[in-house]
Amino acid sequence: DRLVTGGASTEEREVEAALRPKNLADFVGQHRVRKQLALVLEAAKLRGATADHILLSGPPGLGKTTLSMIVAEEMGAPLRISSGPAIQHSGDLAAILSSLTEGEVLFLDEIHRMSRPAEEMLYMAMEDFRVDIVVGKGAGATAIPLELPPFTIVGATTRAGLLPGPLRDRFGFTGHLDFYATEELEMVIRRSAAMLDMNLTNEAFSEIASRSRGTPRIANRLLRRVRDWALVNGLASVDAGAAASALEMYEVDSRGLDRLDRSVLEALCTKFNGGPVGLSTLAIAVGEEIETVETVAEPYLVREGLLGRTPRGRIAMPAAWEHLGLKPPEDPSS
Ligand code: ADP
Repeated sequence: DRLVTGGASTEEREVEAALRPKNLADFVGQHRVRKQLALVLEAAKLRGATADHILLSGPPGLGKTTLSMIVAEEMGAPLRISSGPAIQHSGDLAAILSSLTEGEVLFLDEIHRMSRPAEEMLYMAMEDFRVDIVVGKGAGATAIPLELPPFTIVGATTRAGLLPGPLRDRFGFTGHLDFYATEELEMVIRRSAAMLDMNLTNEAFSEIASRSRGTPRIANRLLRRVRDWALVNGLASVDAGAAASALEMYEVDSRGLDRLDRSVLEALCTKFNGGPVGLSTLAIAVGEEIETVETVAEPYLVREGLLGRTPRGRIAMPAAWEHLGLKPPEDPSS
């Protein structure tokens, strides 16, 4: 199993729940999105209205679920959580929508994975607060319109581009979450360490933060592994050396790359001579789904200047060869 995966296991969800910031003020980083969101919520409160629908995009583990909880908290509204893969029939969605109360926030994770009929039902519900419940079959089928109280959808997707245009257009606000700076991740784990009653040196915090792939979920996860290591080795306080030794065991390298990241880079450099190579060919070479490579591994590799996207395909950047300790091929044009 990958330590540095995007998603969280069920067991992890429980630990995460305890570490989640409960309001915008405690939410670290993402200054622009936070400011814009604060404005949207404040204006809605002043109007005495329900907040506009909100779309959050960005790689897994950057805080989309946390923000949806904060939206509900700030609006003083109840929160309902569901996800695209859980809504395969429009009936599933109708059941959820028709039970929403006024002002309720409905968080739809992986909203790009909803089935087409459900998606169409969602358009209408978001725009007109109405669903058509179809009864009967074939020629005798009739649609009974059902009025809904106003509510707020908070949709999350790994990439806004995965969403069909008409659905995207129905969100009044779209926020894109980006990878966090190392100093921001340090703030995240300092807060978590205090809650978990852990003792770390400043250098240990920065060691963990710099290996966290720009992702708070991973930062918290690595912190817990360091905690295990300290417990087993009987350490009262963790320094940078101890943190590094603990993390070496989990195949997270000094740049925070995990096994998938490295195998994408290795395939690119060794199997395709540095590219350009198409995304699907690259995904097959590493035995992963295209979407995983594109939305989990690639954004971080691009940000780190290790992988480039060109119209002809993916290419390895000079830093990739260097990081893998490989020699780039001679440039035939020089
Ligand atoms: P996503 O929904 O984007 O996959 P989550 O909202 O579930 O990500 O966040 C994963 C974990 O990271 C949560 O436990 C949360 O505590 C932590 N986290 C995410 N963003 C922040 C942040 N800005 N500040 C502090 N902790 C954060």
